[in-house]
Formats: sequence, C-alpha cells, structure tokens
Amino acid sequence: MFSGFYEEIHDEFREVVREFVTREVAPHYKQWDEAHLMPRSLWEAAAENGLLGLAVGEDHGGMGLTDYRFRMIIDEELARADALAVALAFHLHDDWVLPAVLQFGTEEQKQTWLPRFVDGSFVTSVAFTEPGAGSDLRGVRTKAEKNDDGSWRLNGQKTFIGNGISGDGSLVLALTDPDKAHTGGGHSLFLVEKQDNPGYKPGRQLPKMGLRASDTAELFFDDVHVPAANLIGEEGRGLEYAKAILPQGRLAVAAAAVVVAEVSLHQTLDYVRDRRAFGHAVAEFQNTRFQLAELSSGLEAAQRQVAAAVEQFNAGDLNLVAASRAKLHAGDFAKGAVDTCLQLHGGYGYILEYPVAQAYLAVRLLTIFGGTNEILKETIAKDLLS
Ligand SMILES: Cc1cc2nc3c(=O)[nH]c(=O)nc-3n(C[C@H](O)[C@H](O)[C@H](O)COP(=O)(O)OP(=O)(O)OC[C@H]3O[C@@H](n4cnc5c(N)ncnc54)[C@H](O)[C@@H]3O)c2cc1C
Repeated sequence: MFSGFYEEIHDEFREVVREFVTREVAPHYKQWDEAHLMPRSLWEAAAENGLLGLAVGEDHGGMGLTDYRFRMIIDEELARADALAVALAFHLHDDWVLPAVLQFGTEEQKQTWLPRFVDGSFVTSVAFTEPGAGSDLRGVRTKAEKNDDGSWRLNGQKTFIGNGISGDGSLVLALTDPDKAHTGGGHSLFLVEKQDNPGYKPGRQLPKMGLRASDTAELFFDDVHVPAANLIGEEGRGLEYAKAILPQGRLAVAAAAVVVAEVSLHQTLDYVRDRRAFGHAVAEFQNTRFQLAELSSGLEAAQRQVAAAVEQFNAGDLNLVAASRAKLHAGDFAKGAVDTCLQLHGGYGYILEYPVAQAYLAVRLLTIFGGTNEILKETIAKDLLS
C-alpha cells in the first residue's frame, strides 16, 4: 500500500506474519498446491501466532484487532510468498463467518465459538451457494425443519464451499419457511458443526483453475441434527444477516485485489529489469515503461479507494454500496493489471512456476466470488437511482 497507510503499530505484527509465512507456509506451499489441500497444522500454527479471529475481543480469547489493516498485512505477506490460497482460506474464516457471530451471535454462542475461532480448533466455512442458487440467495433450497424440542433437521446441498473439506463447521444459509422464500423472511442462518454429525458430508473437491491449495468442495447435509443453540440471530432473518456481513466480505476481496496487483507489479519490475531482448533490458522499451506507469497510477487509485473503505470500516460505517464500489474497481483493476504483468513476462508468464501465472489464475476469482461484478453494478445502480 502507499506510504502512510500503515502506522508504527502495524510493524511488529507484520514481523510476526512474515516470520510465520517464511517458516510455516513458503517451504510447503508447492506441495499443498499439488495436493489441493493444506494441512490442519497450518491453522494451528497460524493460531499460535495470533493470526486467526483477529477481531475477537480479549474477553473471548482474542486480541481485538478490529483495524482492518491487520487483516491486510496477512494478505500482503502471503501474496509476497505467492501463497494466495492460504489468504483465501483465512479470509473465509475471518471475514465471513466471524462477523456473523460477532454481530448476531448471543453471548453464549460467542463464549462457545469465539475462543475456538482464535485457537484454530474450529476452522469454518461459509455455505451459502448451492447448485441452483448463487447470486440470488433467495433461491437457496437447503431446508432446516424445526423439531418439537426446538432443534433443527438440515437437508440439502451446497457447492463451491471453501474450507468445505478441511473445516470443522459451516455458516449455513437454509430455508426455514418455504412460503416466505421469495419475500425475504424464509431463510435463517445456522452455525453447523461437523463433529458427531455423520450427515454432515463434504463431497467432491472441485478442481479450481487457481488457488488450488485451498479446498473448495460440495457439501451435503443429510438429516443433520442442529441444536436450537446453533441458530444465529432470529429465525427468518438469514438473508438480512447475510447482507449485513457483505460489506466486510467485499472489502476483503477489494483489499486482496490491490495486494495481488501490487505484488505482481513489483515482481514485474524486477523481471523487466533483468530480461534482455534486442540488446536492451525489456524495461528500456517505451511500451514497457508506459505500461508500468499506467499500472502504477491505476494501482494508486485503486489503493486509495480501498484505503477509504478501510477507514470507513474501521469507523464502523462501511456500507454495502461503498464496499461494492471498492470491490468492483479493485477486482477489475487487478484482473487487467496482472494480465499486463503476465504479458511483460513473455512466455515465462504463462509458466505456472512463475508467480505471475499463479496470480493470473487467482485474480480471475475476484470478479466472481463475494458478488459478481454484475451484482455489484446492480447494487451500485440501485443506490444511484433510488
Ligand atoms: C473458487 C470459488 C470459491 C467460492 N467460495 C465460496 C464459499 O466459500 N462459500 C459460498 O457460499 N460460495 C462460494 N463461491 C460461490 C460464489 O460466491 C458464486 O459463484 C457467485 O456468487 C456467483 O454465483 P453463481 O456461480 O451461481 O453464478 P450465477 O448466479 O448463476 O450467475 C451467472 C452469471 O449471471 C450473472 N447474473 C446473475 N444475476 C444477474 C443479474 N441480476 N443481473 C445481471 N447478471 C446477473 C452473474 O453475474 C454471472 O455472470 C465460490 C465460488 C468460486 C468459483
């Protein structure tokens, strides 16, 4: 990020993250990428270094690092090590599931789960998307039926679930009142635990084009018993809660986008300085210089927009429209920027051993996940025209 974005208090944290990434991630990442899975021990190591559940307060076993810049430092250090899949896995846990518990959980739920979010013993996924419902979550058909004792019976199928295989539990959006499915009050949110629940079945690991070290899977619920205590907030308000956590989720994607673009730009600067053609460094060609200048200028604009969103988030007033704008711009910028960086690498840019090729595959997700660009535009346009 640009100079002045971080303050001195962030330096010490960055040292911890860098040390963690150097020791626990970088030497093993290639192996995880090939296995399409990272080991559980990584979560434990991250927890030991205080990198999970950042926003959890001290009263629930965390450090209360609600300043979003701390989350960005984790992304930055992982991106520098070309380990973006780890960033995605942590992001689902910290930027999607955790905010739902923090914002809508009861004190009892917080006491039960938050210390486990922090100590790495409860790795979570967010299970909203289904084969028949992605952008339009009102189409979610996974059904939760209430038993006489107030507990629930969950049946259905989810797809594209990050940490779906490795996780211990999932924030599930389910239909609780089919009659209200299309008016907004028919869905509820549950935090469902896998342990002792044989009907909670991770399905097929989906072969992603990039970010392969994080597992993304189908998830099946077959008569899963969900205690009444696992309902998040009030019955029927699931879509409302899902919408309420979207600003943080979208900010997280926007932040990751500028991080990846920045890292790719720096890697490209090094590459074009070294690479020679026609008796010159590639950096000397006017086309290269102009492309780099445009990237740098576009990056700063995207970073400033993300920084403004981070400031709003830290002040507690980042709204969905501002987060959508930041994600739309940063995601599009990163996609184009990494493409340009790849082009400047020539043929080597197409080889997966080069970080820019991995980044190219990773950024493609950013305009889809957490709200496609088209949905973001609908959100922004609706606000403009209201
Ligand atoms: C790698 C990966 C990881 C993911 N991780 C998770 C996860 O952990 N948990 C989870 O719940 N989900 C996850 N997702 C799902 C992701 O959020 C959805 O893919 C996304 O929301 C889009 O839904 P869809 O794929 O069903 O596309 P669809 O909704 O079917 O959209 C298809 C196309 O139609 C467009 N479209 C849809 N509606 C409109 C409209 N009103 N106006 C204009 N265009 C429209 C879309 O923009 C898109 O271009 C992940 C997806 C991927 C690929």
